[in-house]
Amino acid sequence: MQEFDLFVIGAGSGGVRCARIAAQNGARVAIAERRHWGGTCVNLGCVPKKLMVYAADYGREIDDARSYGWDVTRGFHDWAKLIDAKDREIERLNGIYISMLQKAGVTLFTGDARLVDSDTIEIAPSDLAPEVQTQTVRAKNIVIATGSTPHRLDIEGAEHAIVSDDAFHLEDRPERVAVIGSGYIGVEFAGIFAGLGSSVDLVYRQNLPLRGFDHELRAHLAELLPINGIRARHSTSPERIEKVEDGYRLHLDDGVVLETDCVFMATGRRPNIASLGLDRIGLKTVDGRIAVNAKSETNIPNVYAIGDVIDTYNLTPTAIAEGHILAERLFGEPGREWSFDTTPKAVFFTQPLASVGLTEEEATRDHDLEIFTSTFTPMRQTLSDRKGKVLMKLVVDAHSNVVLGAHMIGPDSPEIIQGLAIAVTAGLKKRDFDRTIGLHPTSAEEFVTMRSRTRYVPSASGTV
Ligand code: NDP
Repeated sequence: MQEFDLFVIGAGSGGVRCARIAAQNGARVAIAERRHWGGTCVNLGCVPKKLMVYAADYGREIDDARSYGWDVTRGFHDWAKLIDAKDREIERLNGIYISMLQKAGVTLFTGDARLVDSDTIEIAPSDLAPEVQTQTVRAKNIVIATGSTPHRLDIEGAEHAIVSDDAFHLEDRPERVAVIGSGYIGVEFAGIFAGLGSSVDLVYRQNLPLRGFDHELRAHLAELLPINGIRARHSTSPERIEKVEDGYRLHLDDGVVLETDCVFMATGRRPNIASLGLDRIGLKTVDGRIAVNAKSETNIPNVYAIGDVIDTYNLTPTAIAEGHILAERLFGEPGREWSFDTTPKAVFFTQPLASVGLTEEEATRDHDLEIFTSTFTPMRQTLSDRKGKVLMKLVVDAHSNVVLGAHMIGPDSPEIIQGLAIAVTAGLKKRDFDRTIGLHPTSAEEFVTMRSRTRYVPSASGTV
């Protein structure tokens, strides 16, 4: 039987990083993947999504270009061509992942891996490799990095809905789409479909989209939805989906019935752990996620879990960081520090939204705050008819002057906030922002020119 120092189950962002760093530190490493090399991010998430966001943006930019003198018209968008080009790029990336692992000396298994006991793994045939023989191997350490899958609401007719996995491979673009859920995926795909010409309803149960983000950003996003041709159906939940001759009817609990060609459920993701045999080894889970401590250790010695299967951020860069730290701790010299508390987040809507650090609501629990905001029309839009203002916001501790959070909605906000994430991670003060000279003319310079505070917010706890 083959024996390894480390066996990683799942070749997504976290698993691949963990395997590669362990192998580079001299460990004998194997990795198993049952579906796609590169996992969700590369195949059914960040990468194809961003390519589709670009596709939608190009359409809008053709309209803008006319205002700048170009004699161009939008014409027809070829959905099949986009999907085909996207698939070719992803196939290329799959190959890169495989060769990167092979170059690092990692042994690759294609198939469905499950735990037989805490040091034995069985790899059975999967859809990706139906012809392989079932194999059994041993490993001193096992990392579970099997990611997550879109979750369908348990309502009548749920089987008629698509989820994000399906959206990347639709044969045609639906003319009418009803998106359920206003988290990352719902908001991003509402922007993609609307940008490509579909009529979009965004259905969500809160009064504002994107629960968890700063309240002011959420309110600003709600204003941008109709500007981008998206009908916001807020404060309502879906009750059932009915198949009709020319599409579907989505019945909402406020009595509204939406006629649509496609119901898209973007209602969260759940860990892929059902087939792993966790019960067999008594591995502890909480609410369907693997329970780990801060060192990614489960309750079974030498079995670890990282990425979407645990209850942290569900973001690619955090899964990568978790995999990297774990591999270094097990086989190398722990060196690099990572600041999970200041993990930046972005939602790639038509006007993308990005945040780092605390929201005003989070910060006000323990801090007296000075809030600085700026709202303006970006210069790029001045000659065009495009609507939608930029909002920037800094959340600052009123006593220490430390910038606790930076938030933005508007063009290039993820690129800008990634830079500011360094400042927030470093604990820089508002006066450091103030003494920084702006880069003119940019939108980003507004972050260093916000001189007068918009408001003072005393701590909600009143104890500061
Ligand atoms: P989210 O958790 O972000 O959003 C889920 C949405 O579904 C929310 O609007 C939620 O409402 C709603 N919902 C959940 N249950 C119900 C219900 N029973 N009835 C009505 N509405 C419901 O999940 P997503 O699917 O959008 O994304 C999954 C994860 O993937 C994200 O958390 C993120 O970590 C990751 N991701 C990151 C991206 C990025 O970094 N840009 C892009 C895409 C995904 P409510 O708010 O009321 O709970």
